[in-house]
Amino acid sequence: MTASFKRIVLASRPAAHVTPDNFRLETVPLPQPAEGEVLVRVHYLSLDPYMRGRMIESRSSYAQPQKLDETMIGGTAGVIEVSRNPKFAVGDTVLGTFGWQEYGISDGRGLMKVDTRAIPISAYLGPVGMPGVTAWYGLNRICAPKPGETVLVSAASGAVGSVVGQLAKAAGCRAVGIAGGPDKCHYVTSELGFDACIDHREHAEVQSMAKAIRAAAPKGVDGLFENVGGIGLDGALACMNPFGRVAVCGLIAGYEGTSIPIYNVFTLVAMRLTVRGFIVSDHLDVWPQALAELGRGVAEGKIRYRETVAEGLAAAPEAFIGMLKGRNFGKQLVKLA
Ligand code: NDP
Repeated sequence: MTASFKRIVLASRPAAHVTPDNFRLETVPLPQPAEGEVLVRVHYLSLDPYMRGRMIESRSSYAQPQKLDETMIGGTAGVIEVSRNPKFAVGDTVLGTFGWQEYGISDGRGLMKVDTRAIPISAYLGPVGMPGVTAWYGLNRICAPKPGETVLVSAASGAVGSVVGQLAKAAGCRAVGIAGGPDKCHYVTSELGFDACIDHREHAEVQSMAKAIRAAAPKGVDGLFENVGGIGLDGALACMNPFGRVAVCGLIAGYEGTSIPIYNVFTLVAMRLTVRGFIVSDHLDVWPQALAELGRGVAEGKIRYRETVAEGLAAAPEAFIGMLKGRNFGKQLVKLA
């Protein structure tokens, strides 16, 4: 076993766009677990859009900001290397929140053992993890679609969006995606089974986007699962059916400081829409049911997913910056071991 390991800390807060020098790679001594603790080797680090919000101090954030000079937060999947805790054995695969580092020490609180016989370890950070539950909650509890209705989801090839559309199809709905570029759109329809996908890069104006959505959703949109904001959201609002439901999951188009005004606001009144924002960690009660369903779906091959895997911790900052620009294709991970 190594005597030291690498971690990445937040070195400075981004002024506008995140840059590599907002992060610092450090080598630190490897601690040994005390009585009751375990040492975990991180195999996969999850990179998620919420981390962008934590990098700054913001009044509108729902969580404390990431502290400077401390290990960047993040969900991880790893394997126990040393155990001094009777609840864990060497070789157990565990989910945790060790952040951007190669090893972590834990007293076991917050660690969850997972079974990798039918579900690959990395999937526990994607469709059978936080992004999957986000999709499950927003779709089932907010969009609440009935068979025959139409669900529209943005960032449709991504970690959350890909699951939303597949669950909507399984619920008997028409699933329409919005994604960036022909390759992502092709994947969304041909591999994930959506009925249609709109390339947002072809629509620089709301009118044009709304026309494309109307063509893809001829009966209108009943459930909108919003991940992005901006032209896609405005175009979608113009296509909502009466009493439609909008799950506001994320607004990634604005995470780097771009303002994303909404013009079609009167639709909320005219179509009597329900618009609800949500944070998946507020709804821990649904996690067991959602994870059981998602796990079954992945194990049986009914829920498909794609990953973009950066190799090695040093690649994490560029991979994160790329994800904020849409360079990831599916769940963005960093492989550490
Ligand atoms: P994704 O895997 O979907 O990756 C992000 C994607 O967003 C990019 O690939 C890109 O896809 C799209 N994107 C980025 N910038 C823009 C832009 N300016 N305009 C249009 N699209 C853009 O990420 P996740 O699935 O992890 O997250 C999706 C959303 O869900 C995010 O908004 C995130 O904050 C939110 N979220 C919310 C949670 C909650 O509890 N409310 C929990 C988890 C996630 P493309 O190339 O197709 O445009």
